[in-house]
Amino acid sequence: MSKYESEINRRRTFAIISHPDAGKTTLTEKFLLYGGAIAQAGQVKGKKNTRAATSDWMEIEKQRGISVTSSVMQFQYEGYCINILDTPGHQDFSEDTYRTLMAADSAVMVIDAAKGVEAQTRKLFKVCAMRDIPIFTFINKMDREARDSFELLEELETELGIETYPVNWPIGCGKDFKGVYDRESQKIIHFTSNGGAKAATATEVALGDPNLDGLIGAVLHQKLTDEIELLDGASAEFDLDRVRHGKLSPVFFGSALTNFGVEPFLEHFLKMTTAPLPRKAGEEVIDSMDEDFSAFVFKIQANMNKAHRDRIAFMRVCSGRFDADKEVYHVQGGKKLRLSRPQQLMAAEREIIEEAYAGDIIGVFDPGIFSIGDTLCAPGKKFKFDPIPTFAPEHFRRVRSLDTMKRKQFLKGMEQIAQEGAIQIFKTPYSGMEEVIVGVVGTLQFDVLEYRLKNEYNVDLYMEGLPYEYLRWIERTDGIEEPVKEEDLNLGTDTKLVEDYKGNQLLLFGSQWAIHWTEDRNKQLKLLEF
Ligand code: GDP
Repeated sequence: MSKYESEINRRRTFAIISHPDAGKTTLTEKFLLYGGAIAQAGQVKGKKNTRAATSDWMEIEKQRGISVTSSVMQFQYEGYCINILDTPGHQDFSEDTYRTLMAADSAVMVIDAAKGVEAQTRKLFKVCAMRDIPIFTFINKMDREARDSFELLEELETELGIETYPVNWPIGCGKDFKGVYDRESQKIIHFTSNGGAKAATATEVALGDPNLDGLIGAVLHQKLTDEIELLDGASAEFDLDRVRHGKLSPVFFGSALTNFGVEPFLEHFLKMTTAPLPRKAGEEVIDSMDEDFSAFVFKIQANMNKAHRDRIAFMRVCSGRFDADKEVYHVQGGKKLRLSRPQQLMAAEREIIEEAYAGDIIGVFDPGIFSIGDTLCAPGKKFKFDPIPTFAPEHFRRVRSLDTMKRKQFLKGMEQIAQEGAIQIFKTPYSGMEEVIVGVVGTLQFDVLEYRLKNEYNVDLYMEGLPYEYLRWIERTDGIEEPVKEEDLNLGTDTKLVEDYKGNQLLLFGSQWAIHWTEDRNKQLKLLEF
């Protein structure tokens, strides 16, 4: 195998998803700790303090001490080169969170053992499932009182509709969390010391070992024996092919805080997950081993540095090797160019890089030429990677300029920011250009919008909340090509017909219930979520 092939083969690029507070940050940190990227846990999280020190983020981020954007980290572990894509939660949840999932080859879903499947887990899972990427489950916080393990698996299956395969099984929980039983090797990994900031220690004991009673206690031993019997009888067969197609989720138990179960997870995960996957570009399939460089833009970060009004375009390398000296072809722009200041985030530091391989994520300086979904490839090629879907916003506001004389700047700013993909803008069939309806995935984007319009376009905004939460694109099923007319539809009072700036028609709804109501009464329409 050439160096080039082995570089690509050893790459693993995954997103880590969870509901806020399930332990995503802690687990990411422990991955880095085991990878040797950081010497001690506690160095990574830029959540509240360190982030502002390492880069020049937007003022709004500094004020609130949060990160508006999802970040990418690379580290090495046992010969693998691992790229973790973090998906922001809390109030900084945005469309970027979803788009980041487009750049990953698999996802690790962190579940709080006391809480099970939560709202944000469900949303993020749905986007992963749409792409059929492998999803690995880490049931975290086993060092606390946890729900019954069988019940948790059942919840994953019924709530998310994915089959599960427990790769290991917890022995006790809370203070009595003694270890995990590895089903493949039939060994018990008995945790001996709480890791905390350092790696945990553990010993391995075979299931039939006479010392087991002494190690984990007779009661837990008996419980484990019973549960293994139940598991072997009841759970799905392990099938790697189904895992790789996102049909079966391998499940692991552990505690990110104490490091228990983190290493067993990494070991199995890295073996089960794949090297960078091929990507579709219309009729063509671009294999990661293709010699020519290709990448697509999945995120644009505006105004990293206020003084320069610059932007950073984050791209996922899909094939070949990126070389900072080589020219690439920007398909959508129809131009050859050199990507400037390519950078990567290693643990807590940003670094300028000279090369990257398929699977890696790089951020490049963008003078305002890139859009979300754009393809870059070797000069002479012209394919376009399949577009990144537009995700339905969940919060809507009516927005206009406070000063009616600034209509032009207002529209320019709104269109520019919408083009970057931070917000989506709509209009009603009869409204003029004075006001637009803005839809966002996370409400923080309204603050970002307000801030940027004021700072970059000198426009103060008037915003009014609208009572809609759901959006569906309309497809006519009656074969008529023309747009639908409001008077021909049977709509409830909490439903509104709007169109986007490309002329696509959509409906906004106040409730899930209203979607079903509308579907039932307007059979000439198909309502689409993506
Ligand atoms: P995130 O919002 O998903 O990134 O969650 P964090 O990693 O920030 O964790 C949220 C809280 O849960 C923090 O106070 C962590 O210390 C705590 N936490 C994370 N993992 C564990 C765990 O395995 N056990 C316990 N007891 N607490 C944990």
